[in-house]
Amino acid sequence: MSTFETLNIQELWIKKLQKQGIKQPTPIQEQAIPHLLAGRDLIGKAQTGTGKTLAFLLPILEQIDLESKTVQALIVAPTRELARQIADETHKLIRNMEDIRALAVYGGQDVFKQIQRLGRMPQIIIGTPGRILDHVGRGTLDLSALKTLVLDEADQMLQIGFLPEIEDIIAAAPVDRQFVMLSATMPPKVEQLAKTYLRDPIEIQVEAEKVTVDAIEQFVVETTDRRKQATLRTMLDEMRPYAAIIFCRTQRRVTKLNEELQMQGYPTDELHGGLTQGKREKAMAKFYQGKTPFLIATDVASRGLDVTGVTHVFNYDLPDDAESYVHRIGRTGRAGNDGVAISIVTPKDGRSFRDMERELGVEVTPIVVELSDEMIRAQHDQSKGTKKPTTEGRGNTRRSNNRRPGRTHRK
Ligand code: ADP
Ligand code: MG
Repeated sequence: MSTFETLNIQELWIKKLQKQGIKQPTPIQEQAIPHLLAGRDLIGKAQTGTGKTLAFLLPILEQIDLESKTVQALIVAPTRELARQIADETHKLIRNMEDIRALAVYGGQDVFKQIQRLGRMPQIIIGTPGRILDHVGRGTLDLSALKTLVLDEADQMLQIGFLPEIEDIIAAAPVDRQFVMLSATMPPKVEQLAKTYLRDPIEIQVEAEKVTVDAIEQFVVETTDRRKQATLRTMLDEMRPYAAIIFCRTQRRVTKLNEELQMQGYPTDELHGGLTQGKREKAMAKFYQGKTPFLIATDVASRGLDVTGVTHVFNYDLPDDAESYVHRIGRTGRAGNDGVAISIVTPKDGRSFRDMERELGVEVTPIVVELSDEMIRAQHDQSKGTKKPTTEGRGNTRRSNNRRPGRTHRK
């Protein structure tokens, strides 16, 4: 088994990694780093939580020419949150190093502040496609000396429809740049992109899919649309998650559920693409800090985001497909921690859930959540529009992580 030393990573980085508790390379890091250090193009398929970021970041850091104050590496990510997160990870490694700079550029930030910072000649840029191109167009970001281009979460990038932007970015970079693509899945569009632009790429596939999902205890609970919220609240009360993400299908449903749970005294917040950048960052920060341990989100939050310490993922609404299911529940049980994922199904999505189970080859344990009379009444009142705030039963114990033997049990 390789170590970071045998992978030829410098002591300097290894020490910084150790401070973060990172001692052994993950399989994708072990496989990718030697090829990336050798300058090869690479396409890597691996589930979320497998350590893709360091797999491309360490070789980039190793290859930066400290003398040259030009943009040498560009990392393109599909969402602001993801760009922010990769930038944070980069900054953790280059902290206190004067000769090396990294900058995140994404929409929602002040363009002029970004231009000013770009003027300080960062060698590494991390950003979302639109804003990167914006700066290229303004002449404030020069990619002509680029050595490495990374597309992270390529599948999501294409799903969002960023192909034209990506092609424009590629066109703005030198033809002999190293090109790295990372993706959790390999739909034909991603393969096509790789075939068009990667030169003789190394292909790496890490079968961590099972491992990732296996580390997560998966449950499914059947209810009706009317009792959905009462079912969720009962589970929150009984399981007392330390930190949970609750997924809904649409922005509107997120906002509604957030308002209603807050009204009932639950410490929740919302995260979706309809919020301003400031609000999104604030929601993430409060969640990281544990101030609002229940984050209600659309799939915006399900990709790539590394929210460590998430103990529970709830699919309040089922995801569209098996892929999104894996991404959502992958928010918990990361890097060796255990996690719990609970999907709430109503009669109308019973079949699609079973299809998904079959497709993934996983067995999801059915549980029964019995609602108290009080809970049913509250739900009833609420559907009639008389919302009654209650705050009972939650306090310090909620964060104690003890699962009370409650009325939630396996079938
Ligand atoms: P991916 O991009 O594949 O979803 P990340 O790069 O975001 O995964 O890594 C997921 C988590 O695992 C992060 O918290 C990261 O710090 C951690 N991690 C990455 N590499 C290692 C490693 N070699 N050992 C332990 N933890 C790691
Ligand atoms: Mg990632």
